[in-house]
Amino acid sequence: MGENSFFLATEAEIRNAKTTDVYFLRTEEVLKKASRDQMVVVEVTASSIKGSNWGVLAGIEDILDLLAGLDIDVYTMPEGSIFQKEDENGVKIPTIVIIGRYLSFGKYETPLLGFICSKSGMTTKTARIRLAAKDKSVLSFGARRAHPAITPVVSYCAYIGGCDGISCILGAEKLGISPTGTIPHSLIILFQDQVTAWKAFDTHVSSNIPRIALIDTYYDEKIEAILAAEAISNLAGVRLDTPSSRRGNFKSIIQEVRWELDHRGFSDVKLYISGGLGEEDVLEYVDFVDGFGIGSEISAAPPIDFALDIVALADENGGWKPVAKRGKFSGRKKVLRCEKCLKIKVMQWKNVDVRCKNCKITMKPLLTKQIEKGKRIREKPSVEEIRVYIREQLDVLRK
Ligand SMILES: [Zn+2]
Repeated sequence: MGENSFFLATEAEIRNAKTTDVYFLRTEEVLKKASRDQMVVVEVTASSIKGSNWGVLAGIEDILDLLAGLDIDVYTMPEGSIFQKEDENGVKIPTIVIIGRYLSFGKYETPLLGFICSKSGMTTKTARIRLAAKDKSVLSFGARRAHPAITPVVSYCAYIGGCDGISCILGAEKLGISPTGTIPHSLIILFQDQVTAWKAFDTHVSSNIPRIALIDTYYDEKIEAILAAEAISNLAGVRLDTPSSRRGNFKSIIQEVRWELDHRGFSDVKLYISGGLGEEDVLEYVDFVDGFGIGSEISAAPPIDFALDIVALADENGGWKPVAKRGKFSGRKKVLRCEKCLKIKVMQWKNVDVRCKNCKITMKPLLTKQIEKGKRIREKPSVEEIRVYIREQLDVLRK
């Protein structure tokens, strides 16, 4: 077994642009030999956000880490910003702007986009589930549906996007929180009896871990729920991971379990559901359960397609000449946002002082300088700060 037998890119390889597309290295070679390097303004915009008319930007901190030390200036929206693909005039909204000589950063385009496409996709899906789940608990169970090397990344996106708990140990460790989970079917099968298995869990696992019984292994959920509530005195909840072949009307099963528990004096026992649940399921069941375990809906969320484009070239007079390929808007731009309704407006560089049409307040610049001549000039926000920032924006969307 070699040092890298899992076929992974190492952090050093990512930092050295080894994961980039080969055409960037060929472009580099041509530009160097033809002495054609020049000062450029590039911007990163979203070409499509699948299944949503807004996205949550994530991966900015990785990008700043990747680009720090290069002789460039970098402006970005803050990590966790909610953005749209384009403003009301159809102008694509820049989320990142880089100014510098093309050759000093061009080859980093691929890893740069990879960071934000992937992380923003997972964070956006989590945030949508957070909204759908109202005040109910959402746990990320997605580690098993992702390549193990990226499970901490999945955990990060799930947590900042609004999950209340993370089941992956390393993910939780890196976030500075305790991992959350219940029990697997294997435990019950090895005991060959639900009640004995739940009791063994209750006997042997630290008392500060909530007792949540899995109630779909052998019998009907209603029967197992009652068995669990009667067997475990401090039962916190039951989890229905009902297989799809038995699901029939899942909502009816959930409602029936709730009724039977309440009827026997177990109204404190909470109901959790899991098993291939998506955003639509959360919307459907939210009023009948206390929490959700979400897996591949987050860890395999579609990436947001971001693209990086040159929008201006330095001219001889120290100014910028607007340039752009077809389908893109040229020139340096200002990105303003109304802090009250989160509406974003893209303006030409010279324009100033714009008011939100709806809220009548002055819109504020959303892009801030993060790197100046290669040096990071702002402090990295903590994971909790990013999480709160996303939650506050979701509160606005909720209204
Ligand atoms: Zn507004």
